[in-house]
Amino acid sequence: MDFGFTEEQEMFRASVVEFAKRELTPEKVKSWDKNASFTPDLFERLAQAGLAGIALPQEYGGQGADSVTVGIVVEELAKFDFNVANLVIIDNVLSAGILAGYGKEELKRIILPEVANGKKHMGIALTEPHTGSDAANIKTVAKKEDGYYVLNGEKASVSMVGLASYFVLFAKTAPELGSKGISAFLLPMDAEGVETYSFDDFGYRPLKRGGILLKNVKIPFQNLIGQENQGFKIVMKQFDFSKTLLSLACVGTALAALDDALSYAKQREAFGRPILKFEAVQFRLVEHYTLLEAARLLCYKTLWLRDKGLPYTKEAAMCKWWIPRLCVEAIHDSIITIGNPAYSKDYPQEKRLRDVMGIEIGDGTADIQKIVVAREAFGREFVPYK
Ligand SMILES: Cc1cc2nc3c(=O)[nH]c(=O)nc-3n(C[C@H](O)[C@H](O)[C@H](O)COP(=O)(O)OP(=O)(O)OC[C@H]3O[C@@H](n4cnc5c(N)ncnc54)[C@H](O)[C@@H]3O)c2cc1C
Repeated sequence: MDFGFTEEQEMFRASVVEFAKRELTPEKVKSWDKNASFTPDLFERLAQAGLAGIALPQEYGGQGADSVTVGIVVEELAKFDFNVANLVIIDNVLSAGILAGYGKEELKRIILPEVANGKKHMGIALTEPHTGSDAANIKTVAKKEDGYYVLNGEKASVSMVGLASYFVLFAKTAPELGSKGISAFLLPMDAEGVETYSFDDFGYRPLKRGGILLKNVKIPFQNLIGQENQGFKIVMKQFDFSKTLLSLACVGTALAALDDALSYAKQREAFGRPILKFEAVQFRLVEHYTLLEAARLLCYKTLWLRDKGLPYTKEAAMCKWWIPRLCVEAIHDSIITIGNPAYSKDYPQEKRLRDVMGIEIGDGTADIQKIVVAREAFGREFVPYK
């Protein structure tokens, strides 16, 4: 067994930290949260550093990095801003990743270089107002008419609304077939008949969660991604990758919160000594550092399995049910360790808590992930419903 990263990966990690120190300053991070918007210079800088297209193939302007290296990017960015790490995951890995894997060549040649150079963004639109966990039950439909697919329906709780120029959108092409009747489409957000609305979220704010209304939206046949009725399989496969990275981003942010609590505990005095001398404080930090180390290793093992071409659905779901909540608890206790100052918005801790909580829901709740682990570990015959 080898738990080490390669020399190249360690050098890359150092360069991502360097980038984050320079570009993700506390002032910028705070303003992106306050204004619920990133500033465009961020996209340019991410692209210049090769991070906007980190997971995309080199032939489309990306870096073609392996999964462990993408994990390194996400973990380190998340120590400075959880939302920038998520931007990379949703835009580049999840959405553009689906286009790169299954889209038509002529679209890939145009769109993927624009994502890699930070000029355009992508999102993923699966959830609807009436259904989230039960994603096979979506009602948006795509019907073939006069040489087009015509989309009608509504997507809700979708990240990147108002930021992404394109969405990978899922609609029923054969409603009678359930999950086997869903197809993936590339939706340009300037298409006629597309309207949007925004959510006012308490965390995850610059990632702009919102809704998309589709009224007789015509899109060409070439915008079908993959084969007709393959959409559900495509998205679930890509979610395995994004779930693992989202979990690792939670770990990065929780580690930053704990490190802040540790620094504070070393210098804050109570009853004539630094509070870190109290075992209650030490043990609280020790327990969280231990659990986060285990969580981090599970994430990297899962990414390693992906790089080896081995199955990793079970491990990805294990990461996702366990780690976001674990990290919320670590950040919570880092607030308790610092005491009253950390309850203020002047401290970064409350923002970390707000942001990471979103991933207890986004990309699937713990309940749903446990169903996936049970299915993979105990067998399909024990799935409660088919
Ligand atoms: C920050 C954030 C970002 C998001 N980004 C996107 C995005 O970019 N694109 C997109 O398409 N969607 C996105 N989502 C939506 C997200 O994927 C859904 O919210 C998620 O799948 C859960 O669906 P739901 O919220 O409708 O909850 P529901 O499905 O209504 O579930 C409600 C509760 O019931 C539980 N539950 C449901 N079914 C079961 C079951 N079988 N067994 C046990 N418990 C069950 C759930 O665990 C949950 O606690 C985002 C959500 C958030 C919060």
